[in-house]
Amino acid sequence: MNTFKDLFLNELADMYDAEQRIIKALPKMIKAATCNHLKKAFQAHLKETEGQVRKLDLVFKSFGVKAKGKTCEATKGLLEEADEIATDFKASPAINAALICAAQKVEHYEIASYGCLHEWAGVLGNKDAAGFLLGILDEEKAANESLTALARSRSNPEALGETEQIGSDSGAADGRSVNLRRGIRPVAATRSRTGSSSR
Ligand code: ZN
Ligand code: FE
Ligand code: FE
Ligand code: FE
Repeated sequence: MNTFKDLFLNELADMYDAEQRIIKALPKMIKAATCNHLKKAFQAHLKETEGQVRKLDLVFKSFGVKAKGKTCEATKGLLEEADEIATDFKASPAINAALICAAQKVEHYEIASYGCLHEWAGVLGNKDAAGFLLGILDEEKAANESLTALARSRSNPEALGETEQIGSDSGAADGRSVNLRRGIRPVAATRSRTGSSSR
C-alpha cells in the first residue's frame, strides 16, 4: 500500500523534474522577450530555479532518499504552450504579455505544488524539509507577483500599442513607461490587485 510519505516523495520527484525542465526552457523565453526588464526578471528566476533544485536535493536528503525526478506532464505541457505562443507572437507588440502569461501559468502550478509539499512535510514531521519547501514557495509567489507588476506597468500597455518604453530598454534612470496618448501612467497599473493574478 502506498503511504502518505510515498505520496510526498512522488510529488517531490514530480517537482524535481519540473524545475529541471524550467531551467531548460527559461533561456528560450529570455531570448524571446523583447523587453529588457522581462529578460532580467526571467534571468533572475533562472538563477533562483537553479537554487531550488539544490534545495530539493536537500529535501530528498532530509528524508534519507536519493534525489530522483519523475516526468511532470503538466510542466511539460505548459512549457510546450509557452513555446507555441512565443512562436505565434514573435513579431507582435504582445509578445512580452504572451510570455508573462505563459510564465505565470508555470508559477501557479509551482505555487500549488509547493503549497501541498510544504504542508505535507510539516504533517510528516520533517521540519527541515518544510523549511526548504516554504523557501521555494515564497520564491515562486514573489516571481509571480513581479510578473504581474511587469505586465501592468509595461507589457500590457505595450501590447495595446499605446505606450512606448521611454529609454527603458537602454537603461534610462527612471525607466517608467508613459502613455503617449494621454501622457499618464497606463490605467491598468492603477487597477485593483485582483486583476491579473492571484496568490
Ligand atoms: Zn522594458
Ligand atoms: Fe521553481
Ligand atoms: Fe507535475
Ligand atoms: Fe518558478
